[in-house]
Amino acid sequence: MHVLILGGTTEARRLAELLHGTPGLRLTTSLAGRVANPRLPPGEVRVGGFGGAEGLAGWLGDHGVDALIDATHPFAGTMSFHAARAAATAHVPLLALRRPGWVPTDGDDWHDTASLEEAAKLLPTLGRRVFLTTGRMGLAAFAAMDDLWFLVRSVDAPEAPYPARTEVVLDRGPFTLDGERELLRRHRVDVVVTKDSGGAATAPKLTAAREAGLPVVVVRRPPVPEDVPVATDPEGATQWVEERLRTR
Ligand code: NAP
Repeated sequence: MHVLILGGTTEARRLAELLHGTPGLRLTTSLAGRVANPRLPPGEVRVGGFGGAEGLAGWLGDHGVDALIDATHPFAGTMSFHAARAAATAHVPLLALRRPGWVPTDGDDWHDTASLEEAAKLLPTLGRRVFLTTGRMGLAAFAAMDDLWFLVRSVDAPEAPYPARTEVVLDRGPFTLDGERELLRRHRVDVVVTKDSGGAATAPKLTAAREAGLPVVVVRRPPVPEDVPVATDPEGATQWVEERLRTR
């Protein structure tokens, strides 16, 4: 049984680790190729786009894929729709592995927005020194905000356009609570911007912001295709694969 994981997340790599070595299973992970030096999962790895939903459907057929798992990031909305269309076209069963979104708790001062552009509009009402953790893509939305100072954290260096007053920290999660407290303090951050990525690896910034009484602008998730079965963690996705292996 050949399983293709659409990856690019911690959970996708964890799933590959759990499935690797299962008798009767061939495993391939697909990465988009956005990160210069990605942490590679076990099993086969292919890199780069497929050429739309049609390209992916063709790939599934050409490589004898028996099951597809969309384990892309919650903000990789295009790929999730391509996966749903390709799976339907190629008659391949599809599972989505989606980590739950973050939920505010007592003491949080969260401001929900629907997009990075909306987040940018809101920012001047909330602070002047911004910790921007939305990744290196999409910085254009903040590029004209000359009055604010930005601390941008990303895995690879951002490309222009980005705000004139920007300091870049190159780092990748998981992050620690102590590290996040120190970062906010050292840079005198007074507002944090994040996508609702969910998961534990990047959540400590939310705790650190709450402790410091800082507002957090939360960009909510894009829509996902309906009618796709969902596992919320790699263990659940492993069960789905094992079930399919058993009933073949
Ligand atoms: P996207 O907007 O949904 O997808 C854009 C295009 O990138 C897709 O049409 C597809 O190209 C290609 N692509 C995306 N994921 C792919 C994969 N796993 N394997 C092969 N091709 C892929 O995606 P994105 O937001 O740019 O994210 C790209 C990758 O980064 C994903 O793997 C995602 O899991 C990861 N990531 C994204 C974010 C985020 O905030 N967006 C954060 C962390 C990690 P074709 O149409 O040519 O097939």
